[in-house]
Amino acid sequence: MSRKWSLSSTACALFVVLVFAGCHKPVSYPEIIAAPHPLTDTLPAQHRILGKSIENRLIECLTLGYGRDVTFILAAIHGNEPAGTPLLRHLAEYLPRHPQLLAGRTVVLLPVANPDGMARNSRDNARGVDLNRNFATANRLDNKNSGTAPLSEPEARAIESVIWKYKPNRIVSIHQPLACIDYDGPGLILAIRMAQYCDLPIKKLGAKPGSLGSYAGLELGIPIITFELLPGDTALSAERLWRQYGKALIAVIVYPDAVK
Ligand SMILES: [Zn+2]
Repeated sequence: MSRKWSLSSTACALFVVLVFAGCHKPVSYPEIIAAPHPLTDTLPAQHRILGKSIENRLIECLTLGYGRDVTFILAAIHGNEPAGTPLLRHLAEYLPRHPQLLAGRTVVLLPVANPDGMARNSRDNARGVDLNRNFATANRLDNKNSGTAPLSEPEARAIESVIWKYKPNRIVSIHQPLACIDYDGPGLILAIRMAQYCDLPIKKLGAKPGSLGSYAGLELGIPIITFELLPGDTALSAERLWRQYGKALIAVIVYPDAVK
């Protein structure tokens, strides 16, 4: 029995129990099948709490689909680069309405990777650590802004836990304001694909010490994109952001297929 069917069956049974509780008329099987319920046509979606930030804010991710091909997209690892967050929330609403995009695929979304930094409009987390310098890499620097040790920060550990749990085939980390598509490790082909679907140019910024790009791309060999949006994108609505960058994100999810 598939998970989707299992989920639908459970929801259906729950609906029937709720609707027909106290009703003396026997319910026929066709009536049960015909009864509307909210989960019938949705894809398996799972909210997970990955951990808590230094200031006890929840670090939450959403998983859609259950296929073997996995894309992991995160936003706001730098708290003062918030435009990726509404973009991912829009993506989270879009995918269930286009379930064909998730055939054989899983998408893991982490819309706010640095919740304390976002709350105070700061690049760093609440301890003054740049999370994008806190990963266990050969090029990591030991200093206050990079954290006292690799993965010293709970937010970086939460991101790493997604990588180890879901073993993504591709990763996109959304930043601002450098207006380009940067890549690490074997990410060039993916960068070229994304560039076909948005106006940002490919630019190699170089592997930063202790960054997620260095960790995933160089240490683990996962194609990873640092998707640098424009500075002015912070002021845009989710719909406008989606018009500018939605297709590029879909291109990552369906890779190597083309966006239709
Ligand atoms: Zn950044």
